[in-house]
Amino acid sequence: MSKKYLSNPTNTLAVISKYGFVFQKKYGQNFLIDENIVAKIVREAGVTKDDFVLEIGPGIGTMTQLLCENAKEVAAVEIDKKLIPILEETLSEYENVTIINEDILKVDIAALAGEKNEGRPIKVVANLPYYITTPIIMGLFESHVPIESITVMVQKEVADRMQTGPGSKDYGALSLAVQYYAKPEIVMNVPPECFMPRPGVGSAVIRLVKHAVNPVAVKDEALMFKLIRASFNQRRKTLANGLNNSPEINLPKDVITRAIEELGKGASVRGEALTLDEFARLSDIIYSKLN
Ligand code: SAM
Repeated sequence: MSKKYLSNPTNTLAVISKYGFVFQKKYGQNFLIDENIVAKIVREAGVTKDDFVLEIGPGIGTMTQLLCENAKEVAAVEIDKKLIPILEETLSEYENVTIINEDILKVDIAALAGEKNEGRPIKVVANLPYYITTPIIMGLFESHVPIESITVMVQKEVADRMQTGPGSKDYGALSLAVQYYAKPEIVMNVPPECFMPRPGVGSAVIRLVKHAVNPVAVKDEALMFKLIRASFNQRRKTLANGLNNSPEINLPKDVITRAIEELGKGASVRGEALTLDEFARLSDIIYSKLN
């Protein structure tokens, strides 16, 4: 591999020491140092010369290099201002990249996609900062940014939660939210040795392909998500108690009990046993009782 590629650990170390860069734990900085993994992420993301790619947290530009070589255009959003001069150097030979020094949670991604990709669906590719995985992913979905797919490295446990269904201990509000918007598929597991410094947890790359049409029809999406959150906030409780105890839901107890009956479930059912379709139906039953 040519000298310039940062996925080669020697090249990463050279950049780190040239700039005296100090890793910031608070920013979840674990840089990839495995060329096969970097190449596989870009391949699994299906990036082509037609694509505009948003990369979240480019670090020193390790994956950005490959993204620039495979995509039409790349926007890389990095919060750490100390990395900006480094990125300017490591990506200097690419003309199709814009480096944005911002907190991704504050970026108007819809406006960025509008400006850079004429509002057409974009691909998101990242080795995410793990401390904000959920707000990043939910933010991308809930803000209705035009997105084709999101291919990201996350903590292994979080990838499992996104992909699993009812009956598993990992099943929860995140599984349902992700599966409402997209089809998740874990494409590989990645051990700590592939990063510098090594994270204390296992990692996995998950691809979320946005549904063209939502898999369930629901009259009030916000109500369904309130019900989902309330059900999983108190995992040990029955669905009825979870909903009764939730400060987010102000419904008379008998309305909740009757709605669960109408769904065809027993009084002792727990939220973790319900599918996305059942949550949508429960939400519609409650909606019809309120309106
Ligand atoms: N992409 C690089 C790689 O794979 O080597 C770095 C990945 S590292 C796990 C996460 C990156 O996200 C870091 O560069 C970190 O500074 C950046 N980051 C952390 N919080 C961020 C935020 N709120 N907005 C944008 N970037 C952030």
